[in-house]
Amino acid sequence: MGFCGRIKREKELDYKKLQERMVKDQLIRRGIRDKKVLAAFYKVRREKFVSSELRRQAYEDFPLPIGEGQTISQPYMVALMTQSLELKGHEKVLEIGTGSGYQTAILAELSQEVYSVERIKSLAQKAQRLLKRLGYNNIKIFSGDGTLGWKECSPYDRILVTAGAREVPLSLIEQLKEKGIMVIPIGNLYSQDLKVIKKKKDGIRSVTVEKCVFVPLIGKYGWEESTING
Ligand code: SAH
Repeated sequence: MGFCGRIKREKELDYKKLQERMVKDQLIRRGIRDKKVLAAFYKVRREKFVSSELRRQAYEDFPLPIGEGQTISQPYMVALMTQSLELKGHEKVLEIGTGSGYQTAILAELSQEVYSVERIKSLAQKAQRLLKRLGYNNIKIFSGDGTLGWKECSPYDRILVTAGAREVPLSLIEQLKEKGIMVIPIGNLYSQDLKVIKKKKDGIRSVTVEKCVFVPLIGKYGWEESTING
C-alpha cells in the first residue's frame, strides 16, 4: 500500500476511536441504555455532518455551529431524545428542525421512514444532498414552517422537535397518532425542559426528562422571528 493510503486509513481510524469514546463516556455513562440507539451512534459518522474546520471536534461534548446561526445538537442530547422516542423499527417519524441532518440519520436507522421539516432552505438542501449521498432512502425533507407539522403525510407514530418551543404546537398534537410519543423542548429562549409527551385516548401526559438549551423554534406556533433578532 502507498503512503497516501496509509495516512488516509489512520485518519479514519482516529474518528472511529473518537466515536467509540463518545458513546462510552458521553452516552453510556449518562444512562443511555437502549442497545439499538447505541448501535446507531456507533454507525452514523458525526464528522460527516459538520464543516471541515470543525470536523476534529465532531465527537466533543457540546453543540457545534452548522451555519445560518444554527447548531448540531450535543451528542448526548440527540441520544436522549432518540431513546425517549422508544423506537422499535416500524414507525413513521416526523422531525422538526433538520439542521445538519445528523439526528435525521439516527432516526432513519431506527425507524421505517422519517419526514423532516427545516425552515432554512439552504440547510434543508444541504442535509438532503448529504443524506442521499450516505445512502438513506427512507428520509423525506421539506423546507417550511414545521410548527404547522407536515399534514399531508400525517399521522405520525413519533414526533421529535429539535428546536426550543414556547408551548406544544397544537398542530403537532393533532398529527400524532393515539399512543404516539412526542419529544419537544419547552421553555423560554434561554433554557427549556425536554418534555416527553404521550398521547392517550383521554388526553396527553407529559414528563420532563432533562434541562436543555436549544436554538429557538421560529414560526406561526413558535417564536416570532422579530423577537429573536431584536
Ligand atoms: N437536529 C439538528 C438540530 C438543528 S438546530 C441537528 O442536530 O443538526 C434546530 C433547527 O431547527 C435549525 O436548523 C432551525 O433552522 C430549525 N428550525 C427552527 N424553527 C423551525 C421551524 N418552525 N420549522 C422547521 N425548522 C425549524
